[in-house]
Amino acid sequence: MNHQLWNGLPYYPISQFYKQKFGEKVYKVPISVAQSCPNREGLRGMKVCNFCDVWGSAAFPEFRELELQKQIEVTKSRIAKRFNAQKFLIYFQAYTNSFAKTSELRKQFEVASQFSDVLGFVVGTRPDCLSEAVLELWNEYTDKGYFLAVELGVQSFDEQQLLWMSRGHTALQSVKGIRKIVNKCPKVDLGIHLMFGFPGESDEDIIESAKICSDLPITNVKIHNLHVLKNTTLEKDFLKGKFTPISREDYTRQAILFLQHLNPQIAVHRLAAVASRHDELVAPDWAKSKLDTYQYIIDSMKNNNCFQGQEFAKKKTTRITLKANL
Ligand code: SF4
Repeated sequence: MNHQLWNGLPYYPISQFYKQKFGEKVYKVPISVAQSCPNREGLRGMKVCNFCDVWGSAAFPEFRELELQKQIEVTKSRIAKRFNAQKFLIYFQAYTNSFAKTSELRKQFEVASQFSDVLGFVVGTRPDCLSEAVLELWNEYTDKGYFLAVELGVQSFDEQQLLWMSRGHTALQSVKGIRKIVNKCPKVDLGIHLMFGFPGESDEDIIESAKICSDLPITNVKIHNLHVLKNTTLEKDFLKGKFTPISREDYTRQAILFLQHLNPQIAVHRLAAVASRHDELVAPDWAKSKLDTYQYIIDSMKNNNCFQGQEFAKKKTTRITLKANL
């Protein structure tokens, strides 16, 4: 039924969300300026997340030695050529972009805002790195008319899974961080990242995550399949036989279940993650091809007449203490 709303897709894609917001297509330009995060600095005894490689999830780490202005020029021109793109959002992707002094981020915003075809910024960060100063900076830029999106790395709403991956923050902190942004920065567009494929993660856990997401004041969600990269703690566990990556079939089933229970008003970034550096992917092999997995999920949804929000109206209350904070 909703397929018509989403140009024939069984889910609400972020591209359509942007098109509705801006009246035209806009493209994210990933850049890499942050150098670290609380985990990598070992704050409060924190450890590097078990899945994270040395690049901190950067899409084009080869550019990170370049000045920000150059990074924007080079990446923007690549994207413009490939997609005939005209308008852009600068995506502060790698590591934690509100961890360094706010004055650093301010300088970076100043550089990015010099480009007349840049409509705004997308800032990747963590729920425990939301200082008053950074929230004020975001407000300053939204008041100037820039689009400002924040993507919070929540990863899971299960406290045990968060401990397992050494995430260094709790699910409750994630919910509180989301509330803080919404209350203090009402013009900020807010999304979260989630991963699927943790040991012992059940279909019920996935449905529960979708229900929690649906109750949160967010506009978008990005889902990733947990994969193993070289030189990570997860690689050691994988090589010792202590971790088995999720199969493509199981991931597909879980991604579909998640979408079926997700509020159809929440836009979805992508349906699968891919290692941007193929030579660093250890497992699973299927994670090498984002497009194949994407198509596999879409085909499965269409063949089984599944679509985003199908089960949403039937949702029951969420469990655990998170409920009190929603
Ligand atoms: S995933 Fe993010 S928070 Fe975790 S170690 Fe990597 S850069 Fe730091």
